Amino acid sequence: CGSMADLDSRGVRLLTLSGHVGFDSLPEQLVCRQLCQGFTFNIMCVGETGIGKSTLMNTLFNTDFDSQECSHFERCVRLRQCCYNLCECDVHLRLTIVEAQGFGDQMDKDVEPIVNYVDAQFESYLQEELKVQRCLYDYLDTRVHVCLYFITPTGHSLKSLDLVTLKRLDSKVNIIPIIAKADTLTKCELLKFKNKIKNDLGRNGVRIYQFPTDDEAVAQINVAMNAHLPFAVVGSMDEVCVNNKLVRAREYPWGVVQVDDDDHSDFGKLREMLIRVNMEDLREQTHRCHYELYRCCRLKEMGYQSSLREYKPSLSQGSECVEAMRKQLAEELCRKEREMKQMIVNRMKQKEVEVKEMERELQARLECLKRIYQEERQKVEEKRKQLEDEKIAFNQRKAACEAMMKAQAAHPPRG
Ligand code: GDP
Repeated sequence: CGSMADLDSRGVRLLTLSGHVGFDSLPEQLVCRQLCQGFTFNIMCVGETGIGKSTLMNTLFNTDFDSQECSHFERCVRLRQCCYNLCECDVHLRLTIVEAQGFGDQMDKDVEPIVNYVDAQFESYLQEELKVQRCLYDYLDTRVHVCLYFITPTGHSLKSLDLVTLKRLDSKVNIIPIIAKADTLTKCELLKFKNKIKNDLGRNGVRIYQFPTDDEAVAQINVAMNAHLPFAVVGSMDEVCVNNKLVRAREYPWGVVQVDDDDHSDFGKLREMLIRVNMEDLREQTHRCHYELYRCCRLKEMGYQSSLREYKPSLSQGSECVEAMRKQLAEELCRKEREMKQMIVNRMKQKEVEVKEMERELQARLECLKRIYQEERQKVEEKRKQLEDEKIAFNQRKAACEAMMKAQAAHPPRG
């Protein structure tokens, strides 16, 4: 490709391109490929029942997603996952919204299901990666890219449930904390509440997602927005006419709270940061930081060593493996023994029931036979009595006849 050859000051040959080669189209090629493939984005919403999770999701994507109203009496937290295919200017987005339903209703059992869900998505991805023939190109990635944590607008500090949950999640997922239903607090209360939350998070070492500041193009806006966290948002799909314009708002007897108005809520900031500016960074952080951490721990558990590329369990890991297997076998044995015992008890119970049933049947048959015998005996007795009576009557008639014959013999009739 180089026709003209010059030497630089060190004598190195410099080639000048004589024409257009074309690798400047690489970014375009990437964009085309990605456009064909489409994008995935997975959001998890964690917050108390009725705090406004579904409303905010609808407002963010300006779509009525099929949300399911949930009671305050769920026995445990359920992760409800819904997928939607959205399209904007030929860009296809496969959006997954995961809602932690029942959160805040059963304090002691709330965090585990959420952590398990996040881990389960990492585990599926890891299992796909570990396959000999993997399909990562069209793999349906369900790893959680962002967790919107809805803080109840109490005006006080964070609850212990908030801190426990955030602490458990902060190494697994990008957390964006938001103050929900911000229209229920005054401007002054909001400011104080935001500061309290920031202090609580800092004191307890909770790491929340920071909008990246290393890319010059977005550094300025991201620095400004980091200072605004946690965003105080208002959600609504209702349209209200304000100054001859239809806007999404919440209408009150005393006035109108406009969702998109920066003076009324941080909703616009959240949408801008989450969707327009940092969606790709959230996806990347999930893969590069959170998934990597999970993968590293899991591979260590499996016996891989971080410094070596191939599988090579160390001596201590070998004995740990044997110990783990011994434990597993012992547990298996115990389980089988328990099952056998239970089976024997069940069989005995069943036999007992069968014997009792047979006893009942025999007793019934005995009763029946007794009754028949009594009836027969009564009939025979009646017959015997009848014969006895007939015999007596016969003997009486016989005696009468004999007496008559004797009398006739003693006084024969004269003729
Ligand atoms: P979820 O159970 O967390 O999904 O809560 P929903 O989105 O179903 O909302 C519960 C109630 O709160 C509904 O009546 C909403 O209209 C109301 N709501 C939602 N967002 C806001 C908000 O920003 N401010 C106020 N005041 N109410 C809201």
